[in-house]
Amino acid sequence: MAKQERSEKQGNPAAGLSRREAIHLGAGALVGATAALAGGVGVAKLAAQGGVQATPVPATDPRYPMPPSWNRELRQLAPNVYAYTQGGGGRASGAGVSNTGMIAGSDFLMAIDATQGPLPAKGFIAAAKQATGKDFGRLINTHHHGDHVNGNQFFPHAEILSHPYCRTECLKAVATTPKMWNPTPGMADVAEERKLVPPSVTFKDDLIYFIGGTEVQFRWVGPAHTWGDVVAYLPQYKILFAGDVGFFWVAPYANNSHISKWLDVCNVIAGWDVDVIVPGHGPIGGKKELAEMAEYFKVLGVEARKRYDAKMTAGAASAEIRLGRFDNWIGPERLIMDTVRWYAEWDGSLTPDYNAAAVNEATKEYNQIKAGAKKVGEIIPLSRMAAMAIPV
Ligand SMILES: [Zn+2]
Repeated sequence: MAKQERSEKQGNPAAGLSRREAIHLGAGALVGATAALAGGVGVAKLAAQGGVQATPVPATDPRYPMPPSWNRELRQLAPNVYAYTQGGGGRASGAGVSNTGMIAGSDFLMAIDATQGPLPAKGFIAAAKQATGKDFGRLINTHHHGDHVNGNQFFPHAEILSHPYCRTECLKAVATTPKMWNPTPGMADVAEERKLVPPSVTFKDDLIYFIGGTEVQFRWVGPAHTWGDVVAYLPQYKILFAGDVGFFWVAPYANNSHISKWLDVCNVIAGWDVDVIVPGHGPIGGKKELAEMAEYFKVLGVEARKRYDAKMTAGAASAEIRLGRFDNWIGPERLIMDTVRWYAEWDGSLTPDYNAAAVNEATKEYNQIKAGAKKVGEIIPLSRMAAMAIPV
């Protein structure tokens, strides 16, 4: 639908919304229109009152399977090689804290990523200590996103390595990092000092460690998920720690991505001798799951391109597009940012940085269209999109 047509068809998009939901739409006129509605009335109740069918947020597709459930656990994949997965499954969990890896040497452990905060980092460290009796001496950050680097401070004896882009982005983030961890379920149980420790060693191309008997090839594959992506390939065991080049059953987060190059990287990895892939998010899988993630972007790319060519905005396109089985993946609202990112690639405006304004604009438009269609259950609070500006 073209922009002009759409605005004519929107009618009163605020109908059936609570004040809070209207505020999330971000349009002052909508807030005024809904001022008569009592604040704090739930979507379901409003739906019952107004005859609007409440739907999950956004709607799932019953024709396709829902994601499996998986556990938070340290799992041994090979002698001295472990993956630490965050638990997840269902629709609402497991998307925001990264998985990690661990390789045990004779003297020290090497970590692949540090997780997001005190509880996940300490859980990982405790599990590693219990399994090996050793402490971490090295830590690789696969990229700069907070759920991979914010735990760095909890590895005080580890030398921290990354691609230069990751270090640069971490240095930029130091100034805006809060001074304290505040108690937050699943993240911090007590208030404690917070600091972002940037990597102190960088490498531009490949770097190979021989830890005990284990060869660990760190390969820079960016730009893909970010411009600084590093993956860890263990040829002896055909294991790949993919960092956020891999999202399995979790909608991929593309706010700092070059999606078409990310797809190229998926193709390159498909040619490697790999049996097991530990993704940054989601359960452990293999090439099949990586190909599925690539398929998410391809399906979205086809649908978004049709609408881009029809001069539809990214927000309007996002509100229309359905992804079939991928609608059931965890974090379905990422469809909006991923569409924005595809558009930026096509119109030549893509940079390594997150275009928060464009995502915000697209989300507001998406919400207005959903509201106009009385799909109030599919409205995405702007606060949720703002929370996703904290990258994963
Ligand atoms: Zn990430």
